[in-house]
Amino acid sequence: MAHFEAKALPRPETFNFATDVIDYWASRSPGLRAMYWTSRATGESRTLDYNHFSRESHRVATLLRQLGIQAGDRLIIILPRLTAWWEVAIAAIRAGVVLCPCTTLLVDKDIEYRAQLSGATAFIGDEASVGKLLNVRQKCPRLKTVLQVGGNAPEGVVSYFDALGKIEQHVNFSREPNKATDPALIYFTSGTSGPPKMVLHNQISYPLAHTSTGKYWLRLKPGKVYWNLAEQGWAKAGWAVFATWNCGAALFVEDDRRPFDPIHLLDILHKYPITTLCAPPTAYRQLVLQAGQDHFRKNPPAALEHCVGAGEPLNGEVIRLWKEMSGIQICDGYGQTETILVCGNLEGNSIKVGSMGKPVPGVHMLVVDDSGQEVPAETEGNIALSIGDDTDPPFFGIFEGYVKEDGSVQRPVKISTAGDGTSAKKTLFLTGDRATRDPDGYFWFVGRSDDIINSSGYRIGKLSLSIRITYVQVLTSVISTGPYEVESVLKQHPGVVESAVVASPDPDRVEVVKAFVVLTEEYARRNHDELRKEIQDFCKKMSAPYKYPRRVQFVEPSFLPKTISGKIMRNRLRAMEKERVGSGVAKSK
Ligand code: ATP
Ligand code: MG
Repeated sequence: MAHFEAKALPRPETFNFATDVIDYWASRSPGLRAMYWTSRATGESRTLDYNHFSRESHRVATLLRQLGIQAGDRLIIILPRLTAWWEVAIAAIRAGVVLCPCTTLLVDKDIEYRAQLSGATAFIGDEASVGKLLNVRQKCPRLKTVLQVGGNAPEGVVSYFDALGKIEQHVNFSREPNKATDPALIYFTSGTSGPPKMVLHNQISYPLAHTSTGKYWLRLKPGKVYWNLAEQGWAKAGWAVFATWNCGAALFVEDDRRPFDPIHLLDILHKYPITTLCAPPTAYRQLVLQAGQDHFRKNPPAALEHCVGAGEPLNGEVIRLWKEMSGIQICDGYGQTETILVCGNLEGNSIKVGSMGKPVPGVHMLVVDDSGQEVPAETEGNIALSIGDDTDPPFFGIFEGYVKEDGSVQRPVKISTAGDGTSAKKTLFLTGDRATRDPDGYFWFVGRSDDIINSSGYRIGKLSLSIRITYVQVLTSVISTGPYEVESVLKQHPGVVESAVVASPDPDRVEVVKAFVVLTEEYARRNHDELRKEIQDFCKKMSAPYKYPRRVQFVEPSFLPKTISGKIMRNRLRAMEKERVGSGVAKSK
């Protein structure tokens, strides 16, 4: 069915993912596969059905209750990809305990920040993360219970497996049905544009609403096997769990603690019946450039049929390269920690390469100006989601709000009036990103609002002074450039490995486009002044000439500041640039 004919999900009054989805599949289709799990270190493999997660989550929920962890309490989970992660996650939802997944890459002070801000009273981790927590535990007075999965639990820490071993195999955990609006999950954002924000989701905003992510974008159903490379602490891994299991499909999970290895990834696709892959754009690029056609041809994927990317702009070059190698078109998808997938290249739509596709059924996504009015097609503006009563049924795939330091939960919204003299109002959530919409309804990502570079344009104008005509520079409107489009062009230059494009203050133009560029080893040896000119000319040729980077600085890969999840923190580069230009350092670089 084409997605535009599809209906939005109705909003239920009560919902619990453990009872309404996991137990449903377990009783309806005994033996239906929920997960393929393998360990890269030991080579061990297991397949687990929905029955397994139903049974184990009843047991773990019973354990949580025995330990005094109540509905509404917050539980931080930091585990590698062990099956215990999903068993605990489903148990927490069953018990109404608010799960707060964090990445294993956190260091002591990150854990302290998250434990304090979340007010978590319980923590579950492996030996490594419990070790980090214990270094800062004194500073987290609200934490009462710490559980350790595997290893020898130190004093004051509960051994998860020992404690679970005492719970009978077929125990039944039950409680009153919870409301759809009860809290379920807390995720921290990636922290790309500032400190990570704490995002609270309720029992349906992720757990149920991701059904549409699974159905329309990932095209999942029983029998499909989905591999998402994101680490468990990120919201995107949450997308995977809820999207896959709502659709009765299976997750593929590899417990792999080594750095990303494209050859190994192809080998896994070759060995297992994975039908659907989600990888970051950089991973697809590495697959093509490092693993290569030859390895791909000798070890073709066993069942791969659908590929997606999200979280970062996916440029046409990556799509082209991967399609050439695999024959599969990557379908871009757009969303945030705060939302489900709200826009994507969905089933039933033809793809316009470079566009992030169309809104998901039930999602009213608009491009608006700063006052909240929708702008005409092809005009750049803010990406907004209409979340009020003007959507029918009301859209619920969106967070409850950010949890603030004082514990309050706030969701920033903008109320906009129809502007036509009527009293019609829209409640808008502004995503903080900019885009255009074309006349066919496709959305084109421009960049984060903070990252947009606003330069004043000058043109030569005529000024008539009595009989003499003088030519002067006339300030025209502000020209805005998104970093993504310039970075996409730079990526096509053979000497460029990676780049980050930001605004650099300029006395004449307010801001100009500056590119920090990481060169290949071969190009790094060349004359940098000549190369700078070559790269600038290349950009002028490949996109609108006014968007070329007037300043280019060649840097080492480690120079580019990145979040733990690998996104470039352009705000830091911008701040550095402001300071540098302010201190009078040469402008041209
Ligand atoms: P923070 O909010 O802390 O600055 P973050 O916004 O990077 O971090 P996430 O919620 O992980 O945290 O990422 C969501 C953002 O990622 C989006 O707002 C958008 O900027 C970007 N993004 C997501 N999908 C896409 C996509 N398909 N194309 C371009 N950008 C995307
Ligand atoms: Mg964000």
